[in-house]
Amino acid sequence: MVQYVYEFAEGNRDMADLLGGKGANLAEMTRLGLPVPPGFTVTTDACRAFLATGTEPDGLADEIADCLGVLERSAGRRLGQPDDPLLLSVRSGARFSMPGMMETILDIGLTDDSVRGLAKVSGSERFAWDSYRRLLQMFGSTVMGVDPALFEAALTRLKDSLNYRDDLHLDAPDLARLVETYKNLISGETGKDFPQDPTEQLRRSIRAVFESWNGQRARLYRRREHISDTLGTAVNVQRMVFGNLGPDSGSGVAFTRDPATGRRRPYGDYLPNAQGEDVVAGIRNTVPLTDLERLDPTSYAQLRDHLEALEGHYRDLCDVEFTIERGTLWMLQTRVGKRTAEAAFAIAAGLAEEGLITHDEALARVSGDEAARLMFPRFDTAAVGEALAHGIPASPGAAVGAAVFDCAEAVRRAAAGEKVVLVRQETTPDDLPGMVAAQAVLTSRGGKTSHAAVVARGMGKVCVCGAEDLVIDPPGRRCTTAGGVTIEEGMVISVDGSTGTLYAGVAPLVDSEVMRYFETGERSGELVDAVARALDRADAVRRLGVRANADTPEDAARARRFGAEGIGLCRTEHMFLGDRRKLVEAMILAHTDADRVRALDALLPLQRQDFIGILEAMDGLPVTIRLLDPPLHEFLPDRTELSVRIATAEAQGNPPSAHDAELLAAVNRMHEENPMLGLRGVRLGLVAPGLTAMQVRALAEAIVERKRAGGDPRAEIMVPLIDAVEELRLVREEVDETLAAVSEASGMAVRCPVGTMIELPRAALTAGQIAQEAAFFSFGTNDLTQTTWGYSRDDVEAAFFSAYLDKGIFKVSPFETIDPEGVGRLVRIAVAEGRAARPDLKVGVCGEHGGDPASVHFFHAADLDYVSCSPFRVPVARLEAGRAAL
Ligand code: PEP
Ligand code: MG
Repeated sequence: MVQYVYEFAEGNRDMADLLGGKGANLAEMTRLGLPVPPGFTVTTDACRAFLATGTEPDGLADEIADCLGVLERSAGRRLGQPDDPLLLSVRSGARFSMPGMMETILDIGLTDDSVRGLAKVSGSERFAWDSYRRLLQMFGSTVMGVDPALFEAALTRLKDSLNYRDDLHLDAPDLARLVETYKNLISGETGKDFPQDPTEQLRRSIRAVFESWNGQRARLYRRREHISDTLGTAVNVQRMVFGNLGPDSGSGVAFTRDPATGRRRPYGDYLPNAQGEDVVAGIRNTVPLTDLERLDPTSYAQLRDHLEALEGHYRDLCDVEFTIERGTLWMLQTRVGKRTAEAAFAIAAGLAEEGLITHDEALARVSGDEAARLMFPRFDTAAVGEALAHGIPASPGAAVGAAVFDCAEAVRRAAAGEKVVLVRQETTPDDLPGMVAAQAVLTSRGGKTSHAAVVARGMGKVCVCGAEDLVIDPPGRRCTTAGGVTIEEGMVISVDGSTGTLYAGVAPLVDSEVMRYFETGERSGELVDAVARALDRADAVRRLGVRANADTPEDAARARRFGAEGIGLCRTEHMFLGDRRKLVEAMILAHTDADRVRALDALLPLQRQDFIGILEAMDGLPVTIRLLDPPLHEFLPDRTELSVRIATAEAQGNPPSAHDAELLAAVNRMHEENPMLGLRGVRLGLVAPGLTAMQVRALAEAIVERKRAGGDPRAEIMVPLIDAVEELRLVREEVDETLAAVSEASGMAVRCPVGTMIELPRAALTAGQIAQEAAFFSFGTNDLTQTTWGYSRDDVEAAFFSAYLDKGIFKVSPFETIDPEGVGRLVRIAVAEGRAARPDLKVGVCGEHGGDPASVHFFHAADLDYVSCSPFRVPVARLEAGRAAL
C-alpha cells in the first residue's frame, strides 16, 4: 500500500521528490537532533492523486489521524483541546522552492472555545485573540475563498474607528470584536460558518494547499523557473511555536554565509516579538542577526552551532527559518539557500578550499548562467551622480528603467517594450508578474530575506530593499527621497543592486571585474579568482571543444581572449554589408559575364583582407569560413520602398532612372514569398556563377599571404544549407579547382578541409551519404529547428510562443534550448550515420544553441566534438561543457 504520510523522524533529505524540499529537510534536521517542532509530511503522491481526482486518496485521512495521534500524545494535549489547545501550522513544500507562491495556514485548532484556553495557558488574552483572528483571515481567504481585501478593509475600519495607527494598539477586546466581524464576514460571503471542528479545519487546510499548486501565481512562477506542472506539492503539518509571545520571543531568517557575497559569516535578519511570516513579508523592519547576540546570547550561540552543523552536513550554504518562543530556539526550516551569482562562485571556491567539497563538486555548484550574469556591466561609481537613496543591496547588478509603482503598470509598460523598475513598499507574491516584467525591484521595507529580495535573487534580478528614506506613495504613483526629490511614475532611475544605491536618470556603466578579467587576463580579486578557478577546472575536465561564431578580426581576437579554441562559424554575408552592398548589387545586376567578373573582382580583395585579419587573430586555431548563405535579394533595396519611391516620383512627372528601373526589375525577379526556404545557402553558390570561386579564391590567397608572413592559418570551408550530397559534390569540384589554381599561381600547396552545415532535416537523414563528401559537419540548429518544427525563426516568437508556453506544449522555446526529442534526434542520427560513413568526421554545432547551457549538456551527451557560440558566451560554454563532463 502507498504510504501518504511520513512523520518527520521517518524521512530524510534524499526524499525531496516525495516529501518536497521543506519536508525532506525538516526530516533531516530532526534526524540530526536539531530542535524541530514535531510534525509530519503529506506526500506529493497524495497531492497528485488529489489533483487528478478532486478527492483525497483512500487511506490518507486514516494516516493523517494516526500521525496526529502521535503528535498529540507527544505534546500531551489534543488538537484544539479547549483548555490547552495543540495548534498546528499547515504549509506547502514542493520539490523545488517556490517562495510564497502557495498557501500557508497557521494556528489551526483555534475555535470559540479553545481561544479562551489559549489565553489562559499563554497568559495573554491579546495573543490568543490575535492568533484566532489570523486563523480566520488565512482560513477564510485561502480555504473558503473570501477576498483577502475584505479582511484588510475590516481591520482598517476598526483601527480608524478607534483612531489607531497600527495593529499593535489593538487590545484583546478589540481583537475579540474583530474576530466576530471576521466570522460574520465569512458567513456573509460564503453562506457557511467558519468550522469549529479542529479536524475539519486541518483536513480542509491540507486540501487548500494541494489546490494552491494550481493557483495562478504558482503557475506563473513555475513557468518562469521552468519547474514542471506535474510535480505537485507536499504538505507539512507541524506543531505551532510562537515568536510573538513577548520580548523574549521572536522570529528570524539566517544564512550560514552571506548569500549576496558568499562571505563566510552567519548572516540574517531577526524580528523580536513576531511570527516568521512578519519577517518574510517585510512588513516591519528587521534587525541584523548580530543584534540577537545582544538580545538573547544563549539562543544566538545555539543558532550559530546549528548553522555550523547544517553547513558541515549539507556541505553548502544553508538558510534557515527559526523562532524563539520564550527563550527556546526552534528550527522551522532549512534548505540549501539561494544565492547571487557572485556568492555562488565565492562559496564554491571557499568550500573547496576548506576541503569540504572537491573541485569537481565546486564546478558542479556554479553555472554558465551565473557566469554570464557576472559579465554584465556595472555602474561606474566614479561617474555616477549623487545618490537619491540608499537601501540594502539584495541582488546585484545594474538596472535602468522607468519607475512604476504597481504591478499592473510594470506589466503594461514592459509589454510595450519599456524598461521599468518596480518600486513598492514591500512586495507580496501577487507582485510576481510585475517583478518578472521589471529590470529591478526597489522596496522601502524589509531586509535581505524579505519576499522581494528572495524572489529577485532567485530570478537573478536586481533588487534593493529596505530603502527606508524613500516615502512611497502608490496611489499618487510617486515617491519622495529624504532629500525632497520626487520621483514620478515614468521617471528613469538607475538601481545598483551591488551597492544598494538609487540614482536619477541613466547612470553610466563600466565593465564588470569578471569581464575585465576575460578581456585582460588579469586575475585579481576574490571573485575573479573564484571564477577563474571554476573555468580552469572546467577546461581540465571537458571533452567538448569550444569555438566562437565571429565575423571580424576584433570579434575573433575577443573570442580568443575569452578562451575560444577557434572559429566554428564565420558568416561571410556579414562582410558584404555596409559600403560593400553596392558591389554586391552590381554583381546581381550584371548583364554580361564581363560585368559580373568585374563586380566579383572588386569584392575579392576586400574579402581577402577580411580573411587575413581573422586568420591572423586565430593563428594556429581552426577557422571555419562559411560560404555566402542568405538570399541575394537581401542585398537589394526593399521591394515596397523602392516601388513606392518610383511610383511617387512618376506621379510627380519624374520617370525612374535607368538604374532604378533596373533595380526594380531585379528586385521583382528575385522576390520570394518564402525566402528562408528559397534561393539561399548552397543553392545560391550553385546558381550565381563565380560567387563561390571568388570567396574560395579570396580565402586561398589569404592563406598564402598568412603563410608567407610566417603564420599558421587553419581555415576550413563550410557549405551552408545542404539538402543532398550532390550539392556538396558540385561545390567541392569548384572549391578544388580554385584551390588548385591558387596553389599553382602561388607555388604553395593550399589545402583546406571542406565540410558542411547540417541544418535541414533531409541532410540529417542522409548524413551517411553526405559524410562521404564532407570532412566535418556543423549543425545549424537555428535552421534545423526552424525546418523541423516548421516555425519561422524570424517571427514565431511573438506570434504564439507565449500561448504555447502557457499551455505547456514546451517549457522553453526550442530556438533557445535544443529540443532533444525532435531536433536532437536528428542530430543524433546524423552523428551516428556520419561517423559510420567516415570515422574521423569532426562534428560541431554553430546555431545559437551552442551557447545555451542546457543545450551544451545535450551536445556533450550526443558526443559532438565542439560547440561554437558568440564570443561573449564562450566562458559560459566552457563552464557548462566542463559541468557536462562531470
Ligand atoms: C543555423 O542555422 O543554425 C546557423 C548557424 O546559420 P544561420 O544562423 O546563419 O542561418
Ligand atoms: Mg543557418
